[in-house]
Amino acid sequence: MTEKTIFSKIIDREIPADIVYEDEVALAFKDLNPQAPVHLLIIPKKAIASANDITSADREIIGHLHWVAAQIAERDGFAADGYRTVMNCNDNGGQTVYHIHLHLLAGKAFGWPPY
Ligand code: 5GP
Repeated sequence: MTEKTIFSKIIDREIPADIVYEDEVALAFKDLNPQAPVHLLIIPKKAIASANDITSADREIIGHLHWVAAQIAERDGFAADGYRTVMNCNDNGGQTVYHIHLHLLAGKAFGWPPY
């Protein structure tokens, strides 16, 4: 069996996190090293290593992550101002934790392109 990632340990409450949303499919918590006034990570409870590992059976889960982002944005009052969602994949994408996660960034205006 492969080693559990930090995020699987957060799901299983083996390490602490500032959890802001949970349902049967997904969990959202504050990023430890925030890059914006609001920086949350929305993760599926199913351990999927990277965007490359998403199967057709996972399509509903991935859509759910985006739905959760919109729910949090509405709940926390930044839906109208706007926000950014990002999923990094592998080295060039800047992925460091191999349990897929949607970054939800808000609270400022972001530039584009992202470099
Ligand atoms: P990635 O670089 O894989 O797209 O994003 C991983 C994110 O996880 C980073 O923004 C990093 O700050 C965050 N992170 C890494 N370890 C932990 C942790 O133990 N707890 C929390 N809350 N965030 C973490």
